[in-house]
Amino acid sequence: MTGKTSTAPEPPLAMLAELTHRCPFSCPYCSNPLDLERRSQELDTAAWREVFDQAAALGVLQVHFSGGEPTVRPDLEELVEHAAGLGLYTNLITAGVLLDEARVGRLAAAGLDHVQLSIQDSDPAESDRIGGYQGGYRRKIEAAAWIRAAGLPLTLNAPVHRQNIEHLEAIIDLAVELDAERIEVAHVQYYGWGLKNRAALMPTRAQLERATEVVEAARARLKGILVFDYVVPDYYAHRPKACMGGWGRQFLNITPSGKVLPCHAAETIPDLEFERVPERDLAEIWENSPAFQRFRGTDWMPELCASCERREIDWGGCRCQALAITGDAAQTDPACGLSPRHADLVALAEAESGREPPAFQYRRMTRPEPAEA
Ligand code: SF4
Ligand code: SF4
Repeated sequence: MTGKTSTAPEPPLAMLAELTHRCPFSCPYCSNPLDLERRSQELDTAAWREVFDQAAALGVLQVHFSGGEPTVRPDLEELVEHAAGLGLYTNLITAGVLLDEARVGRLAAAGLDHVQLSIQDSDPAESDRIGGYQGGYRRKIEAAAWIRAAGLPLTLNAPVHRQNIEHLEAIIDLAVELDAERIEVAHVQYYGWGLKNRAALMPTRAQLERATEVVEAARARLKGILVFDYVVPDYYAHRPKACMGGWGRQFLNITPSGKVLPCHAAETIPDLEFERVPERDLAEIWENSPAFQRFRGTDWMPELCASCERREIDWGGCRCQALAITGDAAQTDPACGLSPRHADLVALAEAESGREPPAFQYRRMTRPEPAEA
């Protein structure tokens, strides 16, 4: 089973540019890999500029500057300006605490189109505890004001889980207070650090149902004021989400060292090898690399998905989750109610959410970072 497609794929819509894995926060659900890439491995400014040139030539429309925390890179403004100059839509995904008013102004002047600011909780002390960063909440609130004062549209990114889900109404109120135009209420996903902390993060089914009611009521109440994106936790779902819009269909992710991934968790799949930019052309990697071809389209699918009418709707769900739960990335995502492993997933969620949550294992470098040159 090769998963090869006979024709060249459509170009990707969006690219996540992980400029760095460095971050002052230590969120226990961080989607970065457990083995974080180091500063010494990061692409330099010239290499990133080349990557954006290649992305624009390939047909990418949107670049999301991410990390880690992308504002630790002093060349962020230059990279935003370069991407904007190529006609790419530019979005900054940030925890906000390293911004100041002048820098927000420089980013806006460089052509930044949008900012997505993360928040850990509406309660300042809890927000700082969950993110592992004292004083972070206060600085995020300041950052939000600078972002709006610079005329930049703001999305509040609110990962929710068992330890902040009871504050969801207050988190939504905070988004309105901060003059966000959109809120992303995303139940955390269990990959990377989230998988490591799953027992501390998993909500109960009753919490999930209540959160869904809160979102639906707020969506109606705040129509015309705040737009909602709502991501439900896979473990309680009936059908999987179309992870990344389908493997190698709409999205690519560049790690700080230039590895090109179909999704940010793809490195958890052990038998895939990922090629790097800028030494190999991005278009070549997108179209021909074995890692992108492995689960692209429907040829790779197990019988359950291959004969299912939803196969080109959800594309069989998430490969990384299939691996994490079944031990085989080529299985149907167990978030699907048709999967023979679905009951295991639900039982796991109910068992973990029914116990006292263990202490967080905060995100950190697994080996100390070498001293900077
Ligand atoms: S999830 Fe937390 S630790 Fe991970 S990059 Fe974002 S702010 Fe940093
Ligand atoms: S069987 Fe496969 S294609 Fe069908 S709904 Fe489940 S995951 Fe999707």
